[in-house]
Amino acid sequence: MTERKHIPYGRQNISEQDIAAVERVLRHPFITQGAEIDNFEDRLSSWCTCTHTVAVSSGTAALHLAYMALGVGPGDIVWTTPNSFVATANAALYCGADVDFVDIDPETRCLCPTALEEKLAIAEKAGRLPKLVVPVHFGGHCCDMPVIAALAADYGFHVVEDGAHSMGATYSDEKGDVVAFGSCRHSDMAITSFHPVKIITTGEGGAVMTNNELYDRRLRQLRSHGVTRDQEHMELQDQGGWYYEQVGLGFNYRITDIQCVLGSSQIERLPAFLARRRALAARYDALLDNLPLKKPIVLPGHESAWHLYVVEVDPERRRSVFDALRRANVGVNVHYIPIHLQPHYRRLGFSEGQFPVSERYYAGALSLPLFPDLDESEQDYVAEQLAGALE
Ligand SMILES: *Cc1c(COP(=O)(O)O)cnc(C)c1O
Repeated sequence: MTERKHIPYGRQNISEQDIAAVERVLRHPFITQGAEIDNFEDRLSSWCTCTHTVAVSSGTAALHLAYMALGVGPGDIVWTTPNSFVATANAALYCGADVDFVDIDPETRCLCPTALEEKLAIAEKAGRLPKLVVPVHFGGHCCDMPVIAALAADYGFHVVEDGAHSMGATYSDEKGDVVAFGSCRHSDMAITSFHPVKIITTGEGGAVMTNNELYDRRLRQLRSHGVTRDQEHMELQDQGGWYYEQVGLGFNYRITDIQCVLGSSQIERLPAFLARRRALAARYDALLDNLPLKKPIVLPGHESAWHLYVVEVDPERRRSVFDALRRANVGVNVHYIPIHLQPHYRRLGFSEGQFPVSERYYAGALSLPLFPDLDESEQDYVAEQLAGALE
């Protein structure tokens, strides 16, 4: 067999159009805090069909600011799922809040609405209801947002969607209307990430979407040190043209014009990225048809953004299959090690056995390469190697 070059599990696609756009900004007098940030935010709002978008330096910063804009702080409880990147839970710890988890649905690997409902009933009796629940649209497949929103109304918690995987995903609501991820039809805010392995990239970067003007204002202040230049929101009146006020404690979570112009160029290419990811996912479905593994599913009414294509193999063999594929230069990966089993979270009191569906899923999970530039022959090779490793 000929030596194969390494096939990663995910990779950005940068076109000449993207490069030309970045070059244009580099020649511009403003390379940060110029017009490209507003332009990118407007494009994100129109794609997502929300009224406000605040672009920031990373998806993690977006989570932190979204939680802060809701006033999450010490004494509050934030729930998410164990099957996410650690950032989803860490952002709650940054706020000084307590974290707890809700187990996943074994088919979608997203937060399980039934588990949420059961845990809420118990938490209500104990007087330990969450202030915020953060569903994670795992792999690009949206959670059951209409049900989560109904529970939020019943129990009075906030909802922030972690859509780091789901730019471009859609689902249909109770009435059958198509809802875009980021529309915040069923949440207070939604965040996404523009890390290079995600659906579109700005290098590092993230955004918070919302339809709430107050959250938008708080997010903008928090993004830049808690400072406002808007006279309407200052305590002292008309001190002079130089004057600004720090009205709270914020951060430097700003994104640059260089990054945003890349993001604007990438968003134009989003339909093509999504079509390619969907075609490759369908092709994996066919290629892996007779193998002893569990394939990802898409529920009726949903269109996944297909950030990840995760199969589940026999947990006894996962390690040897992983090693065989890596030896064959196939960059398989595992998403995710349950957050509650990380040493930092074990030290907060979590332990094995608490979220059995997430733990069982993790034991067999294997993410196969999936990105727009993956070509058919590489994909055939991945499937062959996987079949060989499972023999
Ligand atoms: C990537 C990711 C994040 C964090 O995004 P960054 O831009 O890397 O900070 C948060 N949540 C999930 C589910 C992610 O996959």
